[in-house]
Amino acid sequence: MEYRFDRLFIGGEWVTPIDGGARPSIDPATGKPWGDVAYGGAQDVDRAVAAAREAFEGPWRKMAPWERAALIRKFADLYATQVDALARIESQDNGRAIRESRGDIGLHSQYYHWFASLADKLGGRTIPMDDSVHAFTTRSPVGVVGTITPWNVPLMAAAWKLGPALAAGCTLVLKPAEQTPASSLALAKLFEEAGFPPGVVNVVPGDGPVAGAHLVSHPDVDKIAFTGEGATAKTILKTGADTLKRFSFELGGKAPHILFADCDVENALNAATGSAWALCGQSCALGSRILVERPIYEQVVEGFRRNAARVRVGNPLDQATHMGPQAHQQQLDKTLSYVAIGKEEGAELVSGGARLDGDGYFVAPTVFAGVAPEMRIAQEEIFGPVAAIIPFDGEEEAVAIANGTQYGLAAGLWTGDVGRAHRVANRIEAGIVWVNTYRYIRWSTPYGGVKSSGWGRENGIEALDSYLETKTTVISTTGKFA
Ligand code: NAD
Repeated sequence: MEYRFDRLFIGGEWVTPIDGGARPSIDPATGKPWGDVAYGGAQDVDRAVAAAREAFEGPWRKMAPWERAALIRKFADLYATQVDALARIESQDNGRAIRESRGDIGLHSQYYHWFASLADKLGGRTIPMDDSVHAFTTRSPVGVVGTITPWNVPLMAAAWKLGPALAAGCTLVLKPAEQTPASSLALAKLFEEAGFPPGVVNVVPGDGPVAGAHLVSHPDVDKIAFTGEGATAKTILKTGADTLKRFSFELGGKAPHILFADCDVENALNAATGSAWALCGQSCALGSRILVERPIYEQVVEGFRRNAARVRVGNPLDQATHMGPQAHQQQLDKTLSYVAIGKEEGAELVSGGARLDGDGYFVAPTVFAGVAPEMRIAQEEIFGPVAAIIPFDGEEEAVAIANGTQYGLAAGLWTGDVGRAHRVANRIEAGIVWVNTYRYIRWSTPYGGVKSSGWGRENGIEALDSYLETKTTVISTTGKFA
């Protein structure tokens, strides 16, 4: 497949930006540009929204659900043949280690297949009222959806939105993050090849405050599906308030990973260290707070020191690499600033804590021990490979610390006591809790945050709810108004 990055994909055509342009996209492993990528301005967003509206009112809405499903499946099969290429494109743009990108992107076709299988099963229900009426519900697509995605997992964030949105019968304008636009343009190529009607999927890279904000305030966009930071979500809510469109938000996290003394410590340690540095720390489900019961505390701190030394940091396109660079300069600066904050707060730096030599945005896997729950490094999302180890005594304290942040996206706990597993999982404020495993996510499992971690759910049957409107119809069976 020949991929191109120098045009926007609007209305089924590769077009030159009207009020955008092209600019270099940076390879974070070298700090240098790898090529130029097109970006759009407000007028380009207008064109894309018009194309999405036309497709929604025309071919996409008229297509039978089973035909829509067949097209999504065709796209999914094509996607599966392109995993290696897509992984390379994404890793070059955001620095994610290729072994991780391949693993993640290798699953995406299943997300599309799974949602395709639901496209012709989106019926309503009949509602018992009384003999004088027949009441039932029907479900219809929300309409034109603006999808705004982050730089850490561009294709995953897209799959989680496009799968249910297309199955529901919506059309889309996808605006990827300005730092990592390439893989979303590759995605557009696959929709073109699969034979989607023009305008069903449009891809317009662009700046958040320009193209993103214009999409959000656009009166002809019915819904915004957003993944990114909480601060951006608040801006989006204000920008879009006048349009009263629908919003779903997948936001940040500060996941607690709780290790009770009765757990299988080596197993838990491998999961805890692996998931503290996954995606170079740039994962919303990152187990960034490691809560350790005091009897195993020294063993766990030592295990983190040992495992940090084993992480192979380097060229993300090398299959042997565990951890690539931070995705961009701003994130590198943010991570290093939190290392300084951790030191100032009096946490004990066990490992890492510095930028690695060279032009790329590499940092060493970093471990702080002796962290107090109220420290900023235990409260704020760093989005870098910085683990904060917090000791605790007993279940009550573990739950209090786990729930003691503004976030509630994900959590993990390790214990050999099945009763405790149920008790603690039940009390943790999070959209997903893993017990004796971590970061195990599939298309069928709802995912999303409570508290400041988001609105709504992606994946699972629940994901469809935010792309559908429910209509209730009540018909008199007597022909008389009672
Ligand atoms: P971000 O909020 O900076 O940017 C996300 C997107 O919003 C980008 O496309 C950006 O261009 C756009 N944007 C920025 N300003 C905008 C505005 N004013 N109007 C409209 N759009 C605007 O987030 P990020 O730094 O790219 O991503 C990291 C964040 O995403 C972290 O907080 C992470 O936890 C979160 N995240 C959450 C999930 C999840 O499933 N909950 C998944 C991945 C990432």
